[in-house]
Amino acid sequence: MARFTRRATRVLRILREARMFARAMQSPRHPIVAQMVVTRRCNLACAYCNEFDRVSPPVPAADLLRRVDRLADLGTAIITLSGGEPLLHPDIDAIVARIRARGAMAVLLTNGFLLNKDRIRRLNRAGLDYLQISIDNLEPDATSKKSLSLLERRLAELAAFATFQVTINSVVGAGANDPEDAHTIALRARALGFTSTVGVVHDGAGQLRPLGDRHRDAVDRILRLAPSLFSFAQLGHFQENVIRGLPNRWHCRAGGRFLYVCEDGLVHDCSQQRGRPGIPLEAYSPDDLAREADRPKPCAPFCTLSCVHQVAMLDRFRGQPHETLAAMLGNRRAHDPGFRIPAAVRMLSWAFLDPRRQQRAARVARAALGVAGGRSELNGERARRIGRETDGRP
Ligand code: SF4
Ligand code: SF4
Repeated sequence: MARFTRRATRVLRILREARMFARAMQSPRHPIVAQMVVTRRCNLACAYCNEFDRVSPPVPAADLLRRVDRLADLGTAIITLSGGEPLLHPDIDAIVARIRARGAMAVLLTNGFLLNKDRIRRLNRAGLDYLQISIDNLEPDATSKKSLSLLERRLAELAAFATFQVTINSVVGAGANDPEDAHTIALRARALGFTSTVGVVHDGAGQLRPLGDRHRDAVDRILRLAPSLFSFAQLGHFQENVIRGLPNRWHCRAGGRFLYVCEDGLVHDCSQQRGRPGIPLEAYSPDDLAREADRPKPCAPFCTLSCVHQVAMLDRFRGQPHETLAAMLGNRRAHDPGFRIPAAVRMLSWAFLDPRRQQRAARVARAALGVAGGRSELNGERARRIGRETDGRP
């Protein structure tokens, strides 16, 4: 029964993912992802982290529910709850449920230490879509206690009871950790049936910290572990450039397509560029979204924030669908020559990429996915410009 529930939940989630993707393709003027801080407090104190304190109270639930509603009104497709440690918030289930009730996908970033069977079941009932845990090392050290050995029991419970998708992010370059740890953590995540990603530790402004040869080799091997098609790593250039310390040429759309809402309810470009634009979410307007999305960010070339890169990839896909899909598939096949395109991607390609079908068939596909009709706001040269701007090649 549990297996059936999990499969059914997965199918429904894939359908909602397809709907999110279709909405992202439809208009460049709504946020795709908003990260919302529910408490600044954390139960750990990782030495490299600038996003937590020991004392802040949880943001009142009524404020958070209002913020979810406002983000939904702006058309936000994915709302990610973060902190500090978001599981310290006593009303986290109600916040997740409101995100789902408003039609967005619900994501939770956690260090995992507060997970147990009961908590996982409550998150299932609330409708959580994705949970991400970052693990820094195999054994705790002075830099980080986010360690595989301390989290094994929680991971086993997630594998047994979670109906949401679990992603383990192994972080390379966190203090003095052994770069081999990240590869071992990624293998363990796959063995448990989770997806895995790799992150590169950044400085306090989101910028790259130089990696040594062993670290780069570890990242390379994790990237070869058959990552998912729509991982930004599949586009190749972003992640390869990041680990080699080379600049990326891309247009960061933070403040427009990606929002960071702090505990005070202010919108910032991202977690590492707080203070700009610093406008209250209630007052954040479509003009603000458009201005910030278009504004060039001087921090972009050496930025390591993969979630914002991924949003840019969707916009690149929107502007240059044929070229982007070909690049993604080419990269994927370089790692796995026998790779077959998943049915969902074939369906989306059929609906959105063939110009002869774009008018009639895409309308039918969008209706089936529950996405409102309407003409694309991007066209011709502007679409191609965005595609070029978001191209990761240096
Ligand atoms: S667990 Fe996360 S929020 Fe808490 S200190 Fe570590 S990195 Fe920061
Ligand atoms: S490039 Fe964008 S995501 Fe990266 S640090 Fe700057 S504002 Fe943040």
